[in-house]
Amino acid sequence: MTSQIQQRKPKKQWSLQDFEIGKPLGKGKFGRVYLAREAKSKYIVALKVIFKEQIEKYQLHHQLRREMEIQTSLRHPNVLRLYGWFHDDERIYLILEYAHGGELYRELRKTGHLSEKQAATYIASLTQALAYCHEKHVIHRDIKPENLLLDHEGRLKIADFGWSVQSRSKRHTMCGTLDYLAPEMVENKAHDYAVDNWTLGILCYEFLYGVPPFEAESQKETFRRIMKVDLSFPSTPQVSAEAKDLISRLLVKDSSKRLSLQKIMDHPWIIKNADCTCTCSK
Ligand code: AMP
Repeated sequence: MTSQIQQRKPKKQWSLQDFEIGKPLGKGKFGRVYLAREAKSKYIVALKVIFKEQIEKYQLHHQLRREMEIQTSLRHPNVLRLYGWFHDDERIYLILEYAHGGELYRELRKTGHLSEKQAATYIASLTQALAYCHEKHVIHRDIKPENLLLDHEGRLKIADFGWSVQSRSKRHTMCGTLDYLAPEMVENKAHDYAVDNWTLGILCYEFLYGVPPFEAESQKETFRRIMKVDLSFPSTPQVSAEAKDLISRLLVKDSSKRLSLQKIMDHPWIIKNADCTCTCSK
């Protein structure tokens, strides 16, 4: 298995000796992430350390390889860069762009909910990053606040391409996190790029209200609410009619009728509220 996680076309054969390791940044399902500095250039990165044993145990080598291949090929200001990777007998190391601001999730939990300007800026960043990914035939499928990081300027970065898929055809695997799943994924039906557009609607709601729209006591109930598109807007916090309009146009059961990424960028709420200096790649 270990030979399957080798770089195919190494630009440089990195090793642990090339890095000075700093403080731990966080712990994920399959390993830890450390602040690190490339010894020669002093360039700051985040080093994700994954134990091969864990990957073998859960037979995730294909998924990890896919994550690594997809992420290295993507270059967008709102997509976290994966600069390279290397491994030793026991571990795999991913050399990632350092996101100084940490998880957007933490910010959301700290403040309860975001302002319309902040929410619109993040939604515009995400929309542009997804438009770029979709152009490259990449569907992310696991966009949720935990997978959204912030850099030192507060710019949003999509991370964790573990569940993403590179394909031109409709997909059939059930994956992703419950609250963020589109109805076609809940039903285990074929799905395409429009699953990410649904998730933008979920996130927009969660940014503004602090909780995802179909949250429920049990998984079964969340499934039911998603399938019914049981959407309601609480009276507090107060949210503008334009924001609700955008959410309602994204949380549409028929995936072909969801607002396109281009139309999200042209939506009056985005135009009025998004700070483009923070988002636009142009
Ligand atoms: P993960 O294994 O990707 O879930 O990462 C675990 C935690 O480490 C995340 O929740 C973040 O708080 C932190 N982390 C991961 N990647 C980075 C990064 N590139 N920059 C800063 N913090 C990170």
